[in-house]
Amino acid sequence: MRIVASSKRQNIKEKKLKFYEKYAFLVISSLEKPRFQHFLNWILTRENIQKSKINDIQIRLFPFVKENGNQLIGKCNSKGEIFLYPKKHANCRKKVAKLGNNGFKQHIVTRAKASLIHELLHLKYEDNETKVRELTSKYYSIYSNLSP
Ligand SMILES: [Zn+2]
Repeated sequence: MRIVASSKRQNIKEKKLKFYEKYAFLVISSLEKPRFQHFLNWILTRENIQKSKINDIQIRLFPFVKENGNQLIGKCNSKGEIFLYPKKHANCRKKVAKLGNNGFKQHIVTRAKASLIHELLHLKYEDNETKVRELTSKYYSIYSNLSP
């Protein structure tokens, strides 16, 4: 997994940049935890998804806001590239106010893990969003029940 900054928004303020950097490192370190990696492998085996189908997993540094104003959590393409995006800084500040710092970190980690599972499932189920959502919530709840 690697962190990739989008080429746009170069003139971002230093403070915001630091925020997104911290966010990305938190996401990467939680996704790389052996226990979670082990769980992902279990899903891949169970779903019969070849590891070679996954070409690249990129943790993007900046949010992706669609033309309709909605934020993208993650996406994947037919080349087996998976991209995960952070929430916008302004939305994060609201979440921090609501959940506190630790609650917010937990929220980010949950969001990242669930979206990686979601995108991996898209490699098999392609455009079947209903199926992908259903399985994501099934697998995520199995995972959270494993968690101490
Ligand atoms: Zn989807």
